[in-house]
Amino acid sequence: MLTTLFLNLCILTSCAFMLGFTYRRWPVQGRGPWFWARSAGLAATGLLLMQFPATVVPGVFADLRAVPVVFTVLHSGPVAGLAVALPLMLYRLHLGGIGAPIMVLSTISMLLVGTVVRRLDSMPGFEVSWRRRVTRSLLTLLPNGVGLLLLPNGQTLFAQTYLPLLLLSLAGYVVVMMIVDSRLTTLRLLSTLEGQALLDPLTDVANRRQFEHDLPGLTVGDAVVMVDIDHFKALNDTYGHPMGDAALREVAQRLRGELRGGDRAYRYGGEEFAVILRDVGATSLPVVAERLRAAVGRDPLSSVDVPVTVSVGAALMVTGDPRQVVGRADQALYQAKAAGRNCTVMSVGADFQQSGQPGSRSEHSPASSAAQA
Ligand code: GH3
Ligand code: MG
Ligand code: MG
Repeated sequence: MLTTLFLNLCILTSCAFMLGFTYRRWPVQGRGPWFWARSAGLAATGLLLMQFPATVVPGVFADLRAVPVVFTVLHSGPVAGLAVALPLMLYRLHLGGIGAPIMVLSTISMLLVGTVVRRLDSMPGFEVSWRRRVTRSLLTLLPNGVGLLLLPNGQTLFAQTYLPLLLLSLAGYVVVMMIVDSRLTTLRLLSTLEGQALLDPLTDVANRRQFEHDLPGLTVGDAVVMVDIDHFKALNDTYGHPMGDAALREVAQRLRGELRGGDRAYRYGGEEFAVILRDVGATSLPVVAERLRAAVGRDPLSSVDVPVTVSVGAALMVTGDPRQVVGRADQALYQAKAAGRNCTVMSVGADFQQSGQPGSRSEHSPASSAAQA
C-alpha cells in the first residue's frame, strides 16, 4: 500500500506544480476564470489520483484524493470545496463496492470539518504560519477513513490503513502548500519589484520608465501635459534640498489629486512632471491643463510655506505618433517658460496658445526672489 500511496504523492506533486500556474498575480485574485480553472484542475487531480489506488480489500481503495478537497475547502471555502469533491464522490459511487458509501461519508465529513476550521481560524489567506496550516489540514483530514470502522472486520482495516493514509495525505498537503507557496513568493516578489521599478521613490508617482511604457498606448484624443516647477533651483538654494524634496512630493500629490481614474502623473525627471490624460479632447484639454497649473500655484505649499508655481505645456494626440505629442508638449512648456512662467501653453498645430497669468505668482514667490537676488 505504501508504494502505491507514494506513487499517488508523486502524481500529486506534479499536478500541484502545474496548478501553481493558475496563480497569476499577487495579491491572489478572487473568483475569476483562473480560480475556476484551479478548482477544475484540483478536481481533475483527485480523479487522476483515483486511477492509482491501493486496494485495501476488494471494493475499498486508499489514495490521496482527500488532499485536493481539503486544500480547496480550507483556502477557497465550502462552495469551491464541494465543487471539487462532487465529481470525486460521483466517480467513486460509479466504481461501486462496499467502500463507496464510506468514501462519500468521509468526504462530506472533511468538507464539514474544513468549513468549521476555516470559520474558527478566520484567516483564509496564505500569510498564515506553517504550524497553523498543518494543524488546520490535520484536523480536516482526521475524518478521512474513520468510516472503515463501519465495515466488516473494520477494526483491522482501520488499524492497517488509517494512520498511513493520514500521514501521507498530510505529507501531500504540505508538498502542495510548499509548491503553491514558492509560486506565490515569486509572484509577491515580482509585484513588489515591478512596483519599485515603475514608481518614483521620492514622490510616489509613476516614473519615467512607466511613462515610456504607457506612451505607445496613447490614442487620438489623449494628451500629454508637461509640468515644470518654476525657479526650483532657487527654492533648493534658499530652503535646502530636504525642503526641495518635500516640495516635489507635494507638487506631485497636488497634480495627482486633479486626475481622473484613467489619467496618470509621472515624474519625468528632476523637477519636471508629465501627465497623460486619456480621452480628454481638444475642448477640455486647456481647461484641465490650466487646472493642473492652478492646483500647484493656488496655495503655498505646506512643506516650504511659500507659493510655488509651475509652467505647463500641453499637446493633444491628433496623429498616430505619441513621440510627436511629447515633443510638442515640451515645446509648449518651453514657450510657457519664455512667456514668463506660471502659465499654460497649448500646442495647437504649428502654433501655441497661452493661458494663465505669466509671472504673476512666481514674481512674488520667495523662490523667485531668491533667484533674482
Ligand atoms: P526654471 O523655472 O527655468 O525651470 O528654473 P529651475 O530652477 O526650476 O530649473 P533648473 O533646471 O535650473 O533647476 C532644476 C533644479 O531642480 C536643479 C536641481 O538641483 C533640482 N532638482 C532636481 N531633482 C531634484 C530632487 O530630486 N530633489 C531636489 N531637492 N531638487 C532637485
Ligand atoms: Mg524648473
Ligand atoms: Mg526642468
